[in-house]
Amino acid sequence: MSEEAMVAFRRYIESKDELKGLDYEFDELLHQCFHVEHYLKTFHHFNFTVKTKKPGSADWTSAMYFAQVKSICMIKRYVCYPLEQDQYGECYACENHGMGELRHPLEGIYDMGREDIQFPFYYQDSDSDEFDATTGGSESSDEDMS
Ligand SMILES: [Zn+2]
Repeated sequence: MSEEAMVAFRRYIESKDELKGLDYEFDELLHQCFHVEHYLKTFHHFNFTVKTKKPGSADWTSAMYFAQVKSICMIKRYVCYPLEQDQYGECYACENHGMGELRHPLEGIYDMGREDIQFPFYYQDSDSDEFDATTGGSESSDEDMS
């Protein structure tokens, strides 16, 4: 599943001029939570760390990121944000899944579910094959931020 998080990360650094040319390496997948709002809309939240190295520097540093991979009508949209320490946004969807430790950006655009809804069906997958089967390996699209 970490491939999806890295797609989101790659798009994030490619969208930032100051991050272009950065060396990076996937470090660790910390948390993930898969939400089904209805059969045409699903979203997947990730916490993961990436090691990065500035051009010309010899030092790798590791930082934590949040990514959302949303699938609407089989089209995937990716969002990624760096996580600041001790500042976390809310997500009813993850809380309802018992994934309260999954961290969300304080200022970010992502789906957080609804406070009063318990999802009628869901699973927390740890197996990427299962997730791919449900989304059919659909085409990706540009993230929905302008
Ligand atoms: Zn969440």
